[in-house]
Amino acid sequence: MPETDPDCLFCAIVAGTIDAQIIDQSEQAVAFMDINPATRGHVLVVPRVHCSDLYEISAGDLAETAALARQVALRIRDKLGADGVNLLNSCRPAAWQTVFHFHMHVIPRYEGDPLQLPWVPEAGDSDSIAACAAALRS
Ligand code: 5GP
Ligand code: ZN
Repeated sequence: MPETDPDCLFCAIVAGTIDAQIIDQSEQAVAFMDINPATRGHVLVVPRVHCSDLYEISAGDLAETAALARQVALRIRDKLGADGVNLLNSCRPAAWQTVFHFHMHVIPRYEGDPLQLPWVPEAGDSDSIAACAAALRS
């Protein structure tokens, strides 16, 4: 896999050829503001090396990206007064991914903000849950 994909929007942001509001970075990851914020202060954290999604990212890049996401979450708490945070990753279109360079959404949460859960939790079927568990353990 090449380090950079010439057709990738987030590679261009990492390289500085497309503008973004970068707020933090480390040797292996970069954090910048999402242009369509879910809440005030929504940040995306990406590895510098191109990889399309969770299936493709190396364990090392994932760890570094997660570490920067945590640093950003603390910064959001301290500087913007967030009461909590949702970390979100979408992997593949079936899971809502639209930009195919791995990224973690750091979504600040404020008590009483209007953001909704994306699904309505309902009790699962215990046989089906057990069958999934067996398939995943095998
Ligand atoms: P996904 O849908 O893949 O989980 O998330 C992609 C995110 O990238 C979206 O939240 C979208 O708002 C953000 N995004 C798309 N284009 C741009 C852009 O040009 N600049 C920035 N900063 N964010 C972008
Ligand atoms: Zn890329």
